[in-house]
Amino acid sequence: EAVVNRIAAGEIIHRPANALKELIENSLDAGSTSIQVSIKDGGLKLLQIQDNGHGIRVGDLAIVCERFTTSKLRTFDDLSTMSTYGFRGEALASVSHIAHVTITTKTKDSNCAYKASYSDGAIIPSKPGGAAEPKPCAGNNGTQISAEDLFYNVPTRRKALKNATEEYNRILDVVNRYAIHNEGVSFTCRKVGSNTPDVHTTTSATVVDNIRHIYGSAVANELLSLEKSYPVYPLKIKGWISNANYSVKKFVMLLFINHRSVESPAIRKAIEAVYTTYLPKNTHPWVYLSLEMDPRNVDVNVHPTKREVHFMNEEEVIATICEAIQDRLGDANV
Ligand code: ADP
Ligand code: MG
Repeated sequence: EAVVNRIAAGEIIHRPANALKELIENSLDAGSTSIQVSIKDGGLKLLQIQDNGHGIRVGDLAIVCERFTTSKLRTFDDLSTMSTYGFRGEALASVSHIAHVTITTKTKDSNCAYKASYSDGAIIPSKPGGAAEPKPCAGNNGTQISAEDLFYNVPTRRKALKNATEEYNRILDVVNRYAIHNEGVSFTCRKVGSNTPDVHTTTSATVVDNIRHIYGSAVANELLSLEKSYPVYPLKIKGWISNANYSVKKFVMLLFINHRSVESPAIRKAIEAVYTTYLPKNTHPWVYLSLEMDPRNVDVNVHPTKREVHFMNEEEVIATICEAIQDRLGDANV
């Protein structure tokens, strides 16, 4: 059974950045305003996240890494109307099958924190022969999750991930996206041993402040705000997009659907096409888009960590998004 679970886990978690995305979404679900990420060897040696969210009750620690354990859906009906990011309770379980996971957590009504280490979904005793239960310890409100030696038991996967720098860059990209999207939440990301974090946003920074911090003033100074609602679908578009006089060498698109960072090649292609009328050949726009739609219209059958989404009325919705962008670019030109 452990092997089957390991294979399933490997399908969810391909690389450190996938694992981190799941952990960040859990921290956000827990209402955190501070999320600190520490990384060793591109996350392969250590992937650690510390948040100040509501924590995990000690009674839940024993099952939190079991498959399909989630505190986020209560009735079958919820499955189709989920508005939080996670929806299947598979992420922590998956990570615990391919890494050594340790959770330290404290809820605000508990006198102390509790710590537990996991292997293949279950708590392991802190001493050989000891009890497999959480141990009380000191700690702040919130949760710290460490995943060590990612893919230690999946040698083919481990071998495929040779380049720690590349993995670290993917991790930074995930942190950057969530930092920009989550005004009011402070994010840091650092390599263990380095004094200065590579990203550091504050709770008081605006979205544009965060874009400036991460992508630089050149981009931040050339942005148009976008905000439109279409009750028919329903669809809410919010974002910041580069204007018609500014372009970058590589198309940057930060896309969120219902606050989940996703990829949509179809949206990408359509937006690129809108800008080609404005931009010089071989240059591209910079686009941050947050779409909110009825969760029932978003394909919930795609795997929780699969970033490529599909949704109802896709062509029509994409045409609507493009029209909104087109209008904004046109307006700003006059
Ligand atoms: P899901 O997010 O789909 O519920 P996960 O496997 O990602 O499933 O997490 C399992 C459960 O563990 C969550 O439902 C939540 O109750 C708890 N949990 C995980 N991470 C945190 C966190 N950082 N703070 C509080 N609770 C957490
Ligand atoms: Mg989750």
